[in-house]
Amino acid sequence: MNKPPEHRPEPTAEATGSVSQSTESLFLGSDEGTDAYRTAMERTTDAVLDAFVENADPYSGANPESLREEFSEMEIIPDAGEGLEDALESVEPVLRNSVGVSNPQCLAHLHCPPMISGLAAEAMLSATNQSMDSWDQSPAATLLENRMVEELCGLFGYDEDGDGVFTSGGTQSNFMGLLLAREWFAKERFGTDVQRSGLPHRAKAMRILCSEEAHFTAEQAAAHLGLGENAVITVETNDDREMCPDALDRTLAELDERELLPFALVGTAGTTDFGSIDPLSELADRADEHDLWFHVDAAYGGALALSDRHRGLLSGIDRADSLSVDFHKLFYQPISCGAFLLRDGSQYEHIARNASYLNPEGDSAPNLVAKSVQTTRRFDALKPFVSFQALGRDGFGALVDGTIALADYVAALLSEHPSFELLAEPTINAVVFRYRPATEMDDDRLSWLNEAIRESLLREGEAVVARTEVDDITALKFTLLNPRTTLTDVADILDAIERRGGSLSAVSPEVAR
Ligand SMILES: *Cc1c(COP(=O)(O)O)cnc(C)c1O
Repeated sequence: MNKPPEHRPEPTAEATGSVSQSTESLFLGSDEGTDAYRTAMERTTDAVLDAFVENADPYSGANPESLREEFSEMEIIPDAGEGLEDALESVEPVLRNSVGVSNPQCLAHLHCPPMISGLAAEAMLSATNQSMDSWDQSPAATLLENRMVEELCGLFGYDEDGDGVFTSGGTQSNFMGLLLAREWFAKERFGTDVQRSGLPHRAKAMRILCSEEAHFTAEQAAAHLGLGENAVITVETNDDREMCPDALDRTLAELDERELLPFALVGTAGTTDFGSIDPLSELADRADEHDLWFHVDAAYGGALALSDRHRGLLSGIDRADSLSVDFHKLFYQPISCGAFLLRDGSQYEHIARNASYLNPEGDSAPNLVAKSVQTTRRFDALKPFVSFQALGRDGFGALVDGTIALADYVAALLSEHPSFELLAEPTINAVVFRYRPATEMDDDRLSWLNEAIRESLLREGEAVVARTEVDDITALKFTLLNPRTTLTDVADILDAIERRGGSLSAVSPEVAR
């Protein structure tokens, strides 16, 4: 065996390159480390403010080719380090070409401006670097996460049997909901413990129901769960893009006739494109009647629970067996931050497992690893915690209400405007519409035109607008998450869209391509 060194070996000049850095200055724990940390955080703040926040436009306009070229010249793993200050400077082109999520004209996705309270919490949770898998790696963090989960369960109407865990977002939360649904059903119906023995023989007949507008992660989860995405049956929606209970009844009857085995029903509270909310109470009735696991994907709409005015839209959510809520959308927390909640925490037994190094059997410590599909896990719960402390439920409610009111104004503006077609009345704050010039135009050309408008706005960094398809024709979408976006901001973007629409309409798509 080697003898332990008596002195800590310092990196040699060759190892640290031209800038000599002591080990002490690389880590927290000494005076030198404290100074380096302070400097690093100050420089980081300056860099973000100078290269990112000060940009007037929501995007630099750089295209993938120019960014590829810029980064191809960067040395990614230099032989010799240049020291922290230079390293931070090298991030400048990344900051400069980042999409300006805090800019009022950045309206594309469910991609929020992060609240400053969340940014501060993010700095603390990464500096403390607690890991949520075992209690001995995150003593206070584990218990605070548990308190947050308790509170969230209460917010959605679960009683003290509720439980849950923070996740990386809706994708993971939806996966967990369907994972538990699969394990529960296989156990109840066939006595199969899927975690140990794999899928039951009749797994090929198992079906998951969701609406046509549900998020693609229902299919993704079905694929990951070994059921295949064809196990997902979509149910028709009405004109407001909400699942039709009658259509659900018809689908259930049909599945029954074909001797298929529906086991999970996914309701969406806030569809990604339209913000529409399925009739949750009616879905819960069907789930009761047919003995289905009822999962509600409230990744987007969950924040309505904080609003006195709009909470009613979520009525019935307390009857969900499990639900997904994202904090990195309408709760304005930095990515990533979501939660998975379970009405009856004892259902966790279906996926519980013990690792001798983390949570050996019989260990009484509150080790969260058994509640998650992750092992090492971030303390993301700190972000909404700090933001709730800072803003309170009323403050959050007011933000959400404000953006919903803006969406209603924008919808009214669009429906009165001769060059625009409003494609759905907004439920939350997503507004889907299309530019439609007075001259007649076939569907393909209309699709091309709307896409060309979107691209040109992005390329010139003027506005970041999303696209989707409605009735197989490209549509534009504003996701009005940013509480700082005003009606004037939106009206300016509509003017820009109209101007571009006018000039692009004159171009033949073949030429433009
Ligand atoms: C965003 C979203 C998801 C996916 O969540 P991530 O946080 O991106 O993993 C799932 N469902 C809905 C309705 C969403 O809006």
